[in-house]
Amino acid sequence: MNNIAPREQHQLAQESEPDLYPAELLRLAGYLCGKTVPPEALADEQALLGYAPPAMSAEQRQALSDVAALAASQRALKRQLARAESFLSGFAEHSPSPLWIKGRSGSYVMGNAALSGFFGVPTVVGMDDRHFWPEDVRQSLEEQDRAVLEHGETIKTMETSHDGTRHWLVHKFPIDVDGEPFLGGTAIDMTTEVEKERALIRHDNFYVLLSRLSAIISRAKTLEALCLDTCRVAAHQPGMDIVDISRVDDAGGTLKLFTSAARDGTEHQWRLDDDTSEADWFLPDLAGTAAATGRLQFSNDLHGGCERRHIASCMAIPLFVNSKCWGVISFYSHRPELFDHFYRDRAGELGNELSFGLERLINAQELFRLARTNALSGLPSRLHFDEAIAGLAAVNASGTVLLVNINRFDEISSAYGNTAAIGLMRQVAQRLKTEVAERMALSHVGIGRFALFYPVDEDRSPRRYARDTIIPLLEGSYQVDQQKIWCTVNVGAAMLPEDGTSADELLVKAWDALAGARAQDEQIGFYDRDADHALARQVSMEAELREAVERGEFVNYYQPKIDLKTGKLAGAEALVRWRHPIRGLIQPTEFVPVLERSGLVTEVGRRVMQRAMEDWRAWYDEGLMPPQIAVNVAPAQFRCDTLFDDIERALNTAEAHMTPLSIEVTESSLVSDHRRVIDTLTRVRNLDVPVAIDDFGTGYSSLAYLVTLPVDVLKIDRSFVMKMAQDAGYMGLVSTIVSLAHNLDLKVVAEGIETEEESKLLKLLRCEQGQGYLYGRPVPAEEFAKLLRR
Ligand code: C2E
Ligand code: MG
Ligand code: MG
Repeated sequence: MNNIAPREQHQLAQESEPDLYPAELLRLAGYLCGKTVPPEALADEQALLGYAPPAMSAEQRQALSDVAALAASQRALKRQLARAESFLSGFAEHSPSPLWIKGRSGSYVMGNAALSGFFGVPTVVGMDDRHFWPEDVRQSLEEQDRAVLEHGETIKTMETSHDGTRHWLVHKFPIDVDGEPFLGGTAIDMTTEVEKERALIRHDNFYVLLSRLSAIISRAKTLEALCLDTCRVAAHQPGMDIVDISRVDDAGGTLKLFTSAARDGTEHQWRLDDDTSEADWFLPDLAGTAAATGRLQFSNDLHGGCERRHIASCMAIPLFVNSKCWGVISFYSHRPELFDHFYRDRAGELGNELSFGLERLINAQELFRLARTNALSGLPSRLHFDEAIAGLAAVNASGTVLLVNINRFDEISSAYGNTAAIGLMRQVAQRLKTEVAERMALSHVGIGRFALFYPVDEDRSPRRYARDTIIPLLEGSYQVDQQKIWCTVNVGAAMLPEDGTSADELLVKAWDALAGARAQDEQIGFYDRDADHALARQVSMEAELREAVERGEFVNYYQPKIDLKTGKLAGAEALVRWRHPIRGLIQPTEFVPVLERSGLVTEVGRRVMQRAMEDWRAWYDEGLMPPQIAVNVAPAQFRCDTLFDDIERALNTAEAHMTPLSIEVTESSLVSDHRRVIDTLTRVRNLDVPVAIDDFGTGYSSLAYLVTLPVDVLKIDRSFVMKMAQDAGYMGLVSTIVSLAHNLDLKVVAEGIETEEESKLLKLLRCEQGQGYLYGRPVPAEEFAKLLRR
């Protein structure tokens, strides 16, 4: 007993009540010394040896020293233990995270303040989970505890509070105390981290959705594709289960499902005329409110509202097209409370993005439709016909283009009024629409004109179709408003591909055929590839020009005149163009001679002059500085007494502070009755309107004679300008004309300058002004205004 090994003693110290141990040592010391030894004797070796009897053997003295050493080491151990205990309890008590130890029975043998605070009890020691958790939670906890206690597993889990607002990282680990298993546990509050991470993920997901959406928008060609793709992508967003888009029914104003997609891959698409657009997830009330108020709608707690699909929360975002509610996109989730402030703050962005895509497509479709629809009749337009023929030509189709023309439509218009004429045209269109098969590409190609394509494989010939179907269908009387209007039609025909492969070519030829037939009092004409159409065209052109005057199909183009010295704008020439309803823009060289022959030129010239001054005034009012505008006056118009009135009226329109108008006359106007010519020229110049001799040098009369007339300007003809650079003789001629003119105080304008070289030469010859493609082609009034703005 007196030589207990220190190791065994240490064990003793661990196992037995530490306070007993000094008593044992005291007894041992007393036994060795042979008398009672007081406890303080154990405090140090010298003191203890002081109690040794003198006769003590060296061995016993050594044993007494050992007792003293043992006492010292025990004291040290006790201090260490106490320190360790304080450290541990300090940690445990101040740890914000709950810490606990459970015994095998499941009751807590230790729990820190954070744990008791969590459970709201003064201490958890002696209690078990039955005190704290509902049955289902307790069971799962017990299962985990068993795995730790019985199998020594370490368990790490994320636990979330019942209301989902708090999250803990829980560690459970085995603690073996001399073969007895205990369970240690810690719970670290991760709520902030979890929420931050979730917010980040949601944020990312949301912007991924937005960027996918913009990709869909830029790709989508149809509304269906845009909406279905959007639903598809959105339904695969985390948290979402079904996404649908419903649209406001134009007719009833109610919402109807349009497209939907679910996470499980099911998709639907409804047609607008579908009445079965009811779905077991659709929340018409919520979507309806979104549409009616134009505001986002949320429902986060749909207990049983959509039981069949287990929908627990929903968000409905209104979609706008051209400032009107077009529909609603609705997101459905099985998760309750999914649509929190995060979505409230951002759903608008999503709605805007999708609305933008919808608006873009719808407007493009509308433009497409409008461009391909004639506004008066609602029939497909000329553009549509162009495309249809191009499509047919591309597949090598053959057949006949039939052009149907309402006869004397402008006369009907002036006799019965514009409204009645349009009413008649609508009825004609309606009759054609009901009769003509869809594949025939019926289109409304001009005022009172319709075209269709009659395929070669129809059982009747195109002539019989026109004669037996179209003409009887359209001819006869129409009741328009209170009036009965009698109507006849003509039909012209041209063949694809023999007569042309574009609508333009075919319609022009069908028109020639129609005009040719009309000239011979026929109702139907086929384009004759071999015949010379010049005459027929001219005959028909005259008739057409009359209609064109009625309809005001002429427009003014303006070509700049440049001061050759400064390079600045010095004037403009008004040049007439004909906007033919079928043939497009026609140049004056083609129709002015016909106008002259038919006597229509006076009327047209008057309008050109009047329009030129109206344009001048408009430019001036806009704050631009319009230059003087030269108007061509044809010989017939020059001889006509109304010329002065026309000029005065035009000048009154311009109300200008300077001379806004000049006229150009050709040699043929100036050669006949000398006195009268001089008289007219003088009167015009008295109105402060300068006169130019146009195309100077091309006629047969003596130049010397011409320059003596009271005129202000010579316009050197284009042919001289063209040849001048190559031919020295012409150069000499131009030089002579310029000095001749200058000697007589006339200004010189050179026409048709196309190259820099021509321009330089004319400048050297001291020609004042130049006009030509080099400086600018004739352009419509709006274009010319742009030039003035520069
Ligand atoms: P013009 O009065 O001698 O007009 C000049 C013609 O030359 C214009 O042809 C013009 O476009 C063209 N031109 C101008 N610069 C160049 C160029 O650099 N190169 C080429 N190759 N041509 C150039 P446009 O407009 O076809 O008119 C032809 C003619 O028709 C005019 O010749 C004029 O005699 C007559 N015309 C045009 N408008 C009217 C009008 O309102 N009334 C009358 N009575 N005749 C008109
Ligand atoms: Mg001219
Ligand atoms: Mg000319």
